[in-house]
Order: sequence, then structure tokens, then C-alpha cells
Amino acid sequence: MGMTIPEREIAERPDGYGGPNLSPVGLELAPHAFADGVWALMANIPPKDNNGLVAGRDAALVVDAGITPDMSHQIQRLAAGLTDRPVRYLVNTTYHGDHTFGNAAFPAEVVILSSRRNRSEMSDLAYEKEVRSANMYGDAALLDAVQRWRRPDVVFDEYAEIDLGGRIVQLHHFGPGNGPGDTVLYVPDTRTAWTGNFLCHAGLAHMLLQGGPEPYARSLRRMRETLPGLDTIVPGHGPMGDGHAAIDALLGYLEVLHEEVAAAVAAGRTLEETYTTCTDRWASGELDPSLTAALGRYQVPPDLAKAGILALCRDLHRLNVLATYRLYS
Ligand SMILES: [Zn+2]
Repeated sequence: MGMTIPEREIAERPDGYGGPNLSPVGLELAPHAFADGVWALMANIPPKDNNGLVAGRDAALVVDAGITPDMSHQIQRLAAGLTDRPVRYLVNTTYHGDHTFGNAAFPAEVVILSSRRNRSEMSDLAYEKEVRSANMYGDAALLDAVQRWRRPDVVFDEYAEIDLGGRIVQLHHFGPGNGPGDTVLYVPDTRTAWTGNFLCHAGLAHMLLQGGPEPYARSLRRMRETLPGLDTIVPGHGPMGDGHAAIDALLGYLEVLHEEVAAAVAAGRTLEETYTTCTDRWASGELDPSLTAALGRYQVPPDLAKAGILALCRDLHRLNVLATYRLYS
């Protein structure tokens, strides 16, 4: 269809939209080891940001920087407690502030890497802070501490790899998804991928901000073909999960979203009508059983976690309908 990706993420929001709470207040990261030197750093409260730490014989690498300098320091303290290898690399999975505002709080000699498209999105700090303020739930003043948006030092188009000494880390950009430059980090020896905002646990709603359903689906198929050995994903938000199940679930969702919104636009339906004609798989109040089990591993009371995630999924689904409707109209 030759559809181009919009320049900026959609700023319009559905009525009553809440969106994810990404405030760092109360956020603590707990390490989960996949192997000696490979850890997911999991947020205690979903869907606040998760991170990662990968160490080889010579050096260590951190996945995503935290939303404030304080969070960035928490991540660096955690890394220093888990490995004596020096942190030499930081990877940004997306340009969003909750993944990059902490960049400037890393030492200058730490090399920051991301896709070229992510870096090109990191030009207007004031605008990005304004967008991210909506995710701060009363704590937006904490973003005042973000004075500088340090951009990646090294970029790649589709693929790069880093040798940490006896451990290779692969960086992939499979195409647009949540944003235009989503970067996936893969550690082949543990078959784990850090997926940022590109891919969440099966059964969670995703957020289509810039790509549209069809380009997103092409990117996911590329991921499936490129990483046949993929086992576990560590998303930027929410619980860890089975990588291939997550890809299949999202492909199924995108297919239905594309068909239903395209049909609504072709039939001349209004946006409000389209909200009601598109399948809302969260309307029943039930979650995918594997997702319920995964949420049970958090300290948050399960009922509260479930209610919060359901409300968020409905919000994100309506946003996806809106973004796709605008794209197709
Ligand atoms: Zn995010």
C-alpha cells in the first residue's frame, strides 16, 4: 500500500483514556537470572519499566535507562551489585522518555546504542517530556530533573552485534511497531530477547503509535524468521513470557484490527461507531490464563493487578482503533 509512517506518534487520545502509569515512585527492580551474567531487571509494579543487564568476560551492558536520573542511578547500583564487569554499553529499545531520559545519568564513557530511527526521534526534549507527563499520574514534576536528552552514540539500520567477551549480544530493528525504530536485543546463548515496547506478553494489548497494523505485522514476521530459537521475552513493560506465543497473539490481534477498522472506514462509520464494532477481547473482563499466572508473580495483589491491566488493555485497544482509523481515513 506504500503507506508512510507518520512523522510523530499520534497525539490524539480516546475520551477517558488513562494510559500506563510509568511514574518511578515506588518502582523497584528485582533481578531474574537466566544464566550467569544475564538478568532481567523486573519492575515490582506492572506496567512500570523493566530493564536488563548482560555481562560477558570483559564488559557489561544495560538495557534501557529509566525515566529519571534517580531511576538511572538505581539501575546502575543494581548492575554494580550483580556484576564486577564494567558497564560499557547501554541500549535504548525505543526513543520514549521512560527508556531514555536516564541516558544522561550514565557515565560519559558508556556507549549508548540504538537504531538510527530511534536516535532521529530524540530531538525535542520539551515535547517528549510533555508527552510522557501524561504517564506520570501526579508525579510529572519529577521530570524536571531531566535536563538533557543524551542521544545514542552508535546507531545501526537493521542489525548490529556486540561482543562482551565470550557472550554475543545481537541488536535488531525488524521494522516499525510501537514506534518507527523499535530495537530488540537478543542474547543467543540464553535464547532471551529484550523487546522494549515492540512485544509484550501474549494477551496484553499493545500500543500502535506510528506503524499501523500491516507494517507492524511484517516486522513481527521478520522477528519470527530471524530468531527461530527465541524462548523468553523480557518486554519493556509487564511480565516476561514465551516469545513465539507473544508474536502469534499479536499477529492475530493486528489482523483483526486491520480487517475491522478497514471495513468500518469503507462503510463510512464514524470513529465512535468504530469503537463499538471492533472486537474488544478484554470486554469480558477475562485475561489470557498465562497472563493471569504471570501477574500472580508480582507483589501487587492479584485482583488489583488484574483490574489495572484490564483497564489498561481496554484503553490501549481504543487507542489502537483510533490510530488505525486515522491512518485509514
Ligand atoms: Zn515504554
